[in-house]
Amino acid sequence: MATPADDPNSAINEQGSRAKLSRPLPIDLRGLILFFVLLSVLATLCNSLYVAYRVQRQSLIHTTLEANAAYAAKVASSIGEFLNSAHSRLNYSATTLGQHWNDPEVLRKEAIRLQAQDADFNSIAIVDATGKVLQAYPDTSQIVGATLTSEGIQQALKERRPSVSAAYVSAAGNLVVFISQPVFNPSGEFLGVVGGSVYLLKQSTFHTIISRHFHHEGTFAFIADGNRRLLYHPDQKRIGEVLGWSLTVDAALRGERGSLEGPNYKGVPMLAGFAQVPDANWAVVAQQPRDLSLAPLGQLMRDMVLDMIPAGLLGLGLILLGTTLIARPLRQLSAAADQLAAPQTTEQLRQVHAWYRDASAIRQAMLTGVQLLQQKLGQLSHEAQSDPLTGLANRRAMGGVLDLLAKTGQAYSVLALDIDHFKKVNDTFGHDAGDVALKSVADILKQNSRTGDLACRAGGEEFALILPDTPLDTARVIAERIREHIAQTEVPQVGRLTMSIGVACRNADTPMPESVLKLADERLYLAKQSGRNRVMA
Ligand code: GH3
Ligand code: MG
Ligand code: MG
Repeated sequence: MATPADDPNSAINEQGSRAKLSRPLPIDLRGLILFFVLLSVLATLCNSLYVAYRVQRQSLIHTTLEANAAYAAKVASSIGEFLNSAHSRLNYSATTLGQHWNDPEVLRKEAIRLQAQDADFNSIAIVDATGKVLQAYPDTSQIVGATLTSEGIQQALKERRPSVSAAYVSAAGNLVVFISQPVFNPSGEFLGVVGGSVYLLKQSTFHTIISRHFHHEGTFAFIADGNRRLLYHPDQKRIGEVLGWSLTVDAALRGERGSLEGPNYKGVPMLAGFAQVPDANWAVVAQQPRDLSLAPLGQLMRDMVLDMIPAGLLGLGLILLGTTLIARPLRQLSAAADQLAAPQTTEQLRQVHAWYRDASAIRQAMLTGVQLLQQKLGQLSHEAQSDPLTGLANRRAMGGVLDLLAKTGQAYSVLALDIDHFKKVNDTFGHDAGDVALKSVADILKQNSRTGDLACRAGGEEFALILPDTPLDTARVIAERIREHIAQTEVPQVGRLTMSIGVACRNADTPMPESVLKLADERLYLAKQSGRNRVMA
């Protein structure tokens, strides 16, 4: 029966079953490294793209807001200049008119001159302090002599200073703004006003001013008065409309200038710049739908991704190469680990190119482990094959050698040896002295065996000597020599011993090891019967 000590694998098996090993994932190291590296590369890539997207988007929005604020400011200042020059021309007329207020011919000429001189005014009106129209040119609606109550005129008469009205519907039914100068006579008495109307629904001067400035595609500007009524809008239909609310218009009317991002009246997100027209309570807003400003973003991102592809492919190649190089030694080590006990494992381990520290440390540890294991296995097999007292081969080893000889069909002889009256030795000198005697007999057997011969302790005080390629005669001579040697040897504590020896060889009658051994035993028995201390062959 095999005890744990006999079974070289038992120690390992026991260890294995004691520790509960968790089942590994069905993925190798290279796959794992690849997975995590690709995961982190992808995460970094997505993050970079996202950050780039955010930065580009912010930058586009910022640029558009700045451009629109500048555009609105320029338009506002151009309109301011226009109003200024209109006022100074009207002021010049007002001085002339103040001197000739009662001369209708002068008034008429001045009205015609003003209208002709200045294409910006659609019509000219000269009104007295009560609001009665003294002169109008062109007077298509024949308002001369009528008293005007429209808010633009009323406001101008009330203020008695250069003014710019909000938009209103004139007596002739036109949506207009009225730009006016007060008229005083040389003694300073207020006589009335002279002013020009700009018809908002016709091709007005605002259109010319706004289109004079460069602007981005999709950007448009509109002008609103203090009532949030549109004085100019690229969508002609909306001119005159009063805006329900507008953050930009309100901010500009408060006198602020700048830009903001917010929805328009339809809820469409806009990037708008705004400014107030100096000397008039008007707001100029320049804006662009946000989506239109961000349109280049898609192309920018596509270009960026395309630019990243070559470096990305190179990186991927490097990652694949890197994971292969890192995983290779470990894969080879793991293959070696599957067959630690195999004799070629040491050589296999030495050939692993462990080019980095961890792999090298594992290889070193495995080499040491394999050497220890093989040493241990060798020792175990030696212990299993030999007799502990005498160091001779035991019966198991003898059986192995005989089986091998039987298999190869080699000729051999067997000596069966038994110490005579050994019981008496034990009884007389004690068991320990008996052991000493057994050892010295074993030494003599060793001394008398050649390389290739196998001396065994068959059990107790019985021995056997297997002599390959030895005919019966030679075996008998050897047996005789051993017998004599023993008989002449003085064993410490015991004195002289004798041995009986049976000799047999393999031949046609005894082809099997068992039959050879049996024959040798029978001859040993005969030697005993014949008086001991003899050889029987
Ligand atoms: P014979 O001449 O017929 O062989 O007589 P014998 O006394 O040698 O044979 P027997 O078989 O009667 O006795 C063998 C003795 O060998 C019995 C046993 O005590 C002793 N013996 C067997 N193994 C050992 C051992 O390992 N050490 C010692 N000291 N004695 C042993
Ligand atoms: Mg015996
Ligand atoms: Mg005996």
